[in-house]
This record gives sequence, C-alpha cells and structure tokens, in this order.
Amino acid sequence: MTTALVNATVIPCTGAEPIAGGTVVIDGDRIAYVGPAAGAPPAARTVDCAGRTVLPGLVDAHVHFMYHEVSDNWSIEVTKPLEEAMLDATLNAALLLRRGVTSCREVGTRGMISIVLRDAIAAGRIPGPRTKAAKQIISVWGGLGDFHPTHVFKREQYLPALTEIITGPWEARNAVRQHVKDGADWIKCEASGTGFNPLCPADRDTMSFEELKAIVDEATEKNRPVACHAESKGSIIKAARAGVTTIEHAVYLDDESLEAVLAAGCAICPTLGLYSAFAWEGADTGMPPAVVANHQATNARHVASIRKAHEAGVTIIAGSDAGLTAFPQPGVHREVCVYVERVGMTPHEALLTATRNAAQVIGLGDEVGTLEAGKLADILVLRESPLDRIRALADPENVVAVLQGGVVVAGAL
Ligand SMILES: [Zn+2]
Repeated sequence: MTTALVNATVIPCTGAEPIAGGTVVIDGDRIAYVGPAAGAPPAARTVDCAGRTVLPGLVDAHVHFMYHEVSDNWSIEVTKPLEEAMLDATLNAALLLRRGVTSCREVGTRGMISIVLRDAIAAGRIPGPRTKAAKQIISVWGGLGDFHPTHVFKREQYLPALTEIITGPWEARNAVRQHVKDGADWIKCEASGTGFNPLCPADRDTMSFEELKAIVDEATEKNRPVACHAESKGSIIKAARAGVTTIEHAVYLDDESLEAVLAAGCAICPTLGLYSAFAWEGADTGMPPAVVANHQATNARHVASIRKAHEAGVTIIAGSDAGLTAFPQPGVHREVCVYVERVGMTPHEALLTATRNAAQVIGLGDEVGTLEAGKLADILVLRESPLDRIRALADPENVVAVLQGGVVVAGAL
C-alpha cells in the first residue's frame, strides 16, 4: 500500500532547504520518494497536506524511560520499587511515541528496564520509540551516582540502583563486559558531579582518566560507543581524551576543554532545557532549594558553553533528560526551543539536532532521522511550521499525525 502526502511544506532535515508544495510517498514501512510533486511516483492513496508541515519523527538522545515525577535522587531509587519504575518506563515510552519521539537513546536505568523495553518495543509488543539502550550509569564512590549520605550507605550499593559504582580500571572493564553481556548498545558513565546531587557538585571531577580510558577501551573492543556525563571542565577534557563518543551536559566548557572536544570529534548533548527548568521553574515544582540554587548559579554559564560549542562546529544532539519535577516527559521539543531562544541557533539548525544529528550519533542514522527515499517512514505532520515559530513543535495541539514505520501511531491522516 502506497500513500502520498501532497502539497506539504516538507522539511527533510538532511540539511537541504525545505520543499514548498512537496510530496512524500510512503510504501509500506519505508519512504519511497521525497521531493517536488512533479517527480513523484503514483500512489494508491493521496492525503492533501495543504498548509501542513511534514518532517522526520523526533530523536531524543538522552532519555531515562523510568523518570516520572521525581524531584530528587532519593525518590528515583528509594521511594519507588523496581516494579513501579518499570511501569513508569513503559507508560513513558508510549507517551514519547504519541508525542512524536519515534527514536531515542536510553542513557541510564535500573535493573534491565531499558533493555527489556527496547526489545519489547522492537518486537511490537508495546508502543515506544526505536531505542538504543545503555544500562546503569557507571560511576565512582563520591561521584555523580553515589547518591546516599555516608550515614546510610558507605561504599555499599544495592542491586537495582540507577548507577553501578566501580573502583579502578579493572572494575570499570568488568562493568562494561557485564553491560555488553546484558545487551547494552551504549555504555553510560560519569566523570563529574551535577547540580542535581547535593553530595557531588557540577564542578567536581569524579572518575579518573585511567578509569575512563579503561571503560572506553573495553567498550571499543566490543564495538560499543560511550556516553559520558561531564559537567566540569576537567571531566570534559578527560572524557574527550579517553575517547568517549558523546559528552552529556558540558556545563563548564571553556576554550581548553572545547579544544579537547574538537580534537576528539565528540558530539555534545546539552540537556539545557532540563537544567534551565531546574533553575527557573524548579522552586515552583518542589525541587529541593539547594538544587534550584545550583542550577541558577550555572545556567548562564551552561548557555554560553553550548553557544561556544555550536559556533565552533561541534555536533549538538538534542536530549531531554526529562521526567524529573519541573521538566516532565516528553522534553526534547522544549530542548529544541531552548537552542533557538537562548543558544542562537536558527529553527532549522535546532530541528537538525533532534533529527539528523541525533539519529546519526546514536547509531540509527542509516534508518531514521531524515526524510529520504529508503529510510523508515517515521514522520511528523504538523499544522504550524516550527520554522515559523519554534514553540509550535512543543504544542501537542499542533500535531496532526505521528507515523512510525509507516503506521499512524497518534493523530490521523
Ligand atoms: Zn540523564
């Protein structure tokens, strides 16, 4: 069965200009044609998309499926049993898809949630984005993922934690081996603290270079890329030199750390929407005051860092980190808006961060991320164009239809 979407403004997100009065032909689960009406092959069904905008389904490069209405680290791990986290994750996967997130990268979970969900989605058992999944965030004692005060746990961890804490290069290698055995597509680790963890601030380096290098070497040997949470200047330098594929957050990026990122060819996933929401909306939504203050103190610096990276030609990939209080799922739409409103990207550049760029970097670039013949038909049909008003992307009322693999999964054509 072939379907032609005609008379649309088509944003292919390849980097090429939008096509006015364009046609997209879908054949089964794939795109058969993208271009002007004149060259389009005949189709069994024609859908008039006059006044509408057609673009690829969105790709969120920084998802934690299980994040749902939690205001702090205690709530993530302690107040919810694993079973509830799985339920939250399953419902969030469906929500993301309904809102147009047709692919994503999962960068930190409890137990096997991310892996089980990825496989259930791929098998068509539950709705959700096509997923590349990491397992736990590999961390160190006193680091990002050592959430609990010493009077509760001192160098002890329980199994279904969000993080897996290692000491030294050999434990780092063991963690990677285990994650690969368990089916992880990506390895996630951390090299700095964060404004979100009062026990380990954003400007503190955590994992040693030797540990980071061991993670990357072991992952590379097993053909797995590494995503590294790195907010402090030193952590960005160490992660880049160790050879990670993506730097998450990059709050304290300066000339020297930018140099290291450029030399290594890392992409940056800023999650600037979330951090901005913590700073400016957190107080109204139950964030602990210390977390709000931390993010207010770094927000302008974070914006300047991402602007500097973008201007220097670093590949920026949109990731939401959403689901925490003040920044509910889905969040990648708002992330894209922040790039236009505060970083200074054009709307078209910002859309590429959540389509082509994100798909390429997370490892789905051959199949999704752009509208091109041969790719999977993951498609958004919107009323108002985000090129005219970027906030239109974040408005659920603006969505006409979401297609994944040629199937309408939300709205209607
Ligand atoms: Zn995260």
